[in-house]
Amino acid sequence: MRVLVVDDSRAVRSAVRAELEQAGYEVICARSGEEAFDLCAGQSFHLLVSDVRMGDLSGVHLCRLLRSDPATESIPIVLLTASDDPRSRFWGRNAGADAYLAKERTRESLVPTIDRLLADRPCEQTPPWGATGNRNPLKQLSQVLERHLFEAVISNEARRLMDHVHDPRSFGRAVLSLTAEVTRCSYVVLRLTGLDQPLHSVLARGPWPAEPTPGALASVGLPPYEESVDVMRTRESTVTPDGAALESGEMASFLIQVGNENLGQLTMFSGPRPMAQEDQDTTALIARCMGVVVKSMYLMEQTRHAALTDALTGLCNRRHAMDRLEHELSVARRYDQPLSVAICDIDHFKQVNDTHGHNMGDEVLRVVAQCLATTVRETDLVARWGGEEFLVILPKSAEAGSRIVAERLRAAVAQLPAMPNGPGHVTTSVGVATLGASTDLHTFLDEADDALYNAKARGRNRVEVYRPSDRPPATLTPPLKSQTTTSGAGESSGAGESSGAGESSGAGE
Ligand code: GH3
Ligand code: MG
Ligand code: MG
Repeated sequence: MRVLVVDDSRAVRSAVRAELEQAGYEVICARSGEEAFDLCAGQSFHLLVSDVRMGDLSGVHLCRLLRSDPATESIPIVLLTASDDPRSRFWGRNAGADAYLAKERTRESLVPTIDRLLADRPCEQTPPWGATGNRNPLKQLSQVLERHLFEAVISNEARRLMDHVHDPRSFGRAVLSLTAEVTRCSYVVLRLTGLDQPLHSVLARGPWPAEPTPGALASVGLPPYEESVDVMRTRESTVTPDGAALESGEMASFLIQVGNENLGQLTMFSGPRPMAQEDQDTTALIARCMGVVVKSMYLMEQTRHAALTDALTGLCNRRHAMDRLEHELSVARRYDQPLSVAICDIDHFKQVNDTHGHNMGDEVLRVVAQCLATTVRETDLVARWGGEEFLVILPKSAEAGSRIVAERLRAAVAQLPAMPNGPGHVTTSVGVATLGASTDLHTFLDEADDALYNAKARGRNRVEVYRPSDRPPATLTPPLKSQTTTSGAGESSGAGESSGAGESSGAGE
């Protein structure tokens, strides 16, 4: 097998030649990187041994040049260095060297290393390493380095997308902007599949209808009736009446992955012109670098979701409900809109646990939660407020309306079918409060609680709406119940009330 040895020191060349010839290799020597580069164009070698530091074209440069040419990219390369410092060793490996040896150790390690690298290789002659000889090696090197630099910068930009992971939509836009900035494609489509709801982002540089039409979406590989698509236009984009005739051209699609896990896809469409290989390579690079960033975004979303969700019922948790209530309160104040809350508490829930077991209790909580969540409007929010209590936020609802909603909630739970091996019927008591002109958040919630207390005290499975007169000064007991409006089918008074929360001691008053 033929080995090309490159070194600017005659002594090293002869020593290496002697050793390799003794081991049975045919050796050709070159005195510089440039000479080696020229030799490569004319004949084939099975392996290259090169000094690291030589003239203008170093061993590392030679390595990068050979690795960048498909004809030579897999040839084994051994770098020899006088100074074995870790940084140049790293750099040699990074350039694609298979082995990096200290010159003083060549005697014991060079031949075994070469034997190992050539062990599995066929020894028939391979064609010359490519038609590189006519070209100026330094010029070619500068192109190779420029390409590496470009890739390094793109990777860095792709990783900087990390700044957007707190907001998937903004992330989508940033990915599309970056891709469009460095390629010439007419459409770029990002699909992220691991979020709560899949995210589809489209960048349209070519013609696109004012609203995404089924035709336009289908042209860029999206489900035609997908509603949640974020479309970004660039200045070159024009508006067409319908996307059906949109010319998407050739397509190249790249998976976004971490390990073997698919996280999404980055797809580009060339539009009227043919797809350029360079654009494909760049998009593939962006997709590759994005894997870990997208994964971080998914994990962040999951963490955020977990922090705001009640694990048992899947409803919003108390913290989330509090944030939302603060927000709704400020909106109500600012726009002078009504706002109401209802607290629903399952009646005699302790008995459910005691009679049917804790697991059945959990199941009842899930069923009731689901029932409440599906009974309110989309703009309302149902949260798990505590053990068997649920808070319902009713934005833009005044007292009359919120009483109707609360009554509907109560009736919906009472009408739930009996659960197999569980309690026959479950009922809830509901306390409603509507925001007063000068009520603060905590008083507002206390008022709903007071109304709930009254609902319990007056028989359960009923709705009570808070009235200011329900809240007498601390010294006055019992509460002035006469002014509380009531509705619902309360328990027959007596038996049920004796175990009711409201009966305990009057402490709530
Ligand atoms: P009332 O009609 O007055 O509301 O009576 P109650 O029994 O519903 O109320 P109480 O406050 O006496 O009991 C609530 C019970 O809810 C006690 C507690 O063990 C149970 N609980 C709280 N959280 C959970 C939970 O996550 N799962 C289950 N299975 N039970 C829970
Ligand atoms: Mg209860
Ligand atoms: Mg309770």
